[in-house]
Amino acid sequence: MKRKADVVIIGGGINGCCLAYNLSKKGLSVQVIEKRYLTSGATGSCGAGIRQQWSTEENTLLAINSVKIFEKLSKELKEDIEFRQGGYLIAIHDKAEMNQAIKNVKMQKKLGLKVDIIDNDKIQNIVPILDVNGMNAIAASYCPTDGHANPFKTTFAYAKASLKYDTNIATHTKVIDIKTDKREIKEVITDKGSIKTNFVINAAGVWSKEIADMVKINIPNQALRKEILATERLKPIFKSMVISFKDGIYFSQQKEGQIVGGIPLEKEFGLKTLPTIDFLYHMSSTLTRYAPSLSHVKVLRHWTGFYDMTPDARPIIGDTKDLIGFIHCHGFSGHGFMLSPMVSKIITDYISNGKKDKIFEDLSLDRFKGKKITYEKSVVG
Ligand SMILES: Cc1cc2nc3c(=O)[nH]c(=O)nc-3n(C[C@H](O)[C@H](O)[C@H](O)COP(=O)(O)OP(=O)(O)OC[C@H]3O[C@@H](n4cnc5c(N)ncnc54)[C@H](O)[C@@H]3O)c2cc1C
Repeated sequence: MKRKADVVIIGGGINGCCLAYNLSKKGLSVQVIEKRYLTSGATGSCGAGIRQQWSTEENTLLAINSVKIFEKLSKELKEDIEFRQGGYLIAIHDKAEMNQAIKNVKMQKKLGLKVDIIDNDKIQNIVPILDVNGMNAIAASYCPTDGHANPFKTTFAYAKASLKYDTNIATHTKVIDIKTDKREIKEVITDKGSIKTNFVINAAGVWSKEIADMVKINIPNQALRKEILATERLKPIFKSMVISFKDGIYFSQQKEGQIVGGIPLEKEFGLKTLPTIDFLYHMSSTLTRYAPSLSHVKVLRHWTGFYDMTPDARPIIGDTKDLIGFIHCHGFSGHGFMLSPMVSKIITDYISNGKKDKIFEDLSLDRFKGKKITYEKSVVG
């Protein structure tokens, strides 16, 4: 581990590793600190879908620009991250959802996204196993450039690429304190020694609140429990991710053939990892309502993970005047994998040359200080 670094990144998930690559590529010395192993947080338990269809402009822009990076990433990192663009099909069930979808698609098109509202015949052309009556769909919104990547391969590819520059990654090393002087960062203390620095990035996922507490900053995040399953491998059937905001279900077929997907149960905050039979029942009955031909398929694995939720379901990015150099990069509320390339780029631009993207203002922690907040409505799972 370094004794001094330009930037210390807390967390070895997709955001920590992507940031390490981008920052060290700019010539900065970087120390990543991970208390367990790389991908041991939400990154290793996620669906890894990549979607540009959001209700807020900030998320849509971050996702559109992230997809542009994902499209070239395997080549850039010289590792196959298994990025595929099979599209996202978002079911529309009633008039209220249709009105919201029309609004979303209008805004998304204005930002340059190729997206449309499609009828039930087109839904069945794209994913033939869907029963549009069983799923109670009246239409769907569809974007063909949405997709998926392998979260493990992407994170490890970023980590490996960062090591070609001035990055050190310390795993099984826990941050236990952060020393500040007035409004500046001075030192990060771990259970294996300390590092002097003026920049700390809090990319600790659902543990970001513990890290922010170390510098006496209160963040409104809560860990929201989720369950997700994977079936046995099947021959290739469909390429698109299917989701429904009303039913909460999402599922797609992976490159190796298994169906991976989830659905929410009653909201439960906290870090309880125990998987439940209720989830298996609810997921399989909804999945087979959507796609009856999957009823014979065996579930092989089932696990829990946690969304790092903010009150408006939008991430918290950048520093505040209270503590310069303490960079927030958390609160992704279930969509931090897909946004990581662009989020890392704008944080890197800020640290390396002081350039502050407008997103810093929109997604700043300060937005919760009495201002009117805009909710992200397109959250699933
Ligand atoms: C079931 C499920 C499905 C999801 N599906 C999708 C999806 O389809 N698409 C999408 O974009 N997103 C999805 N997400 C969300 C996505 O997984 C997260 O937003 C993203 O992985 C967050 O990455 P991260 O690097 O910020 O945090 P994490 O991956 O959580 O990494 C944080 C790391 O910080 C480390 N850490 C914590 N405290 C300390 C400390 N004191 N010292 C050192 N290290 C510390 C942890 O060990 C952890 O490894 C899903 C999440 C879940 C749970």
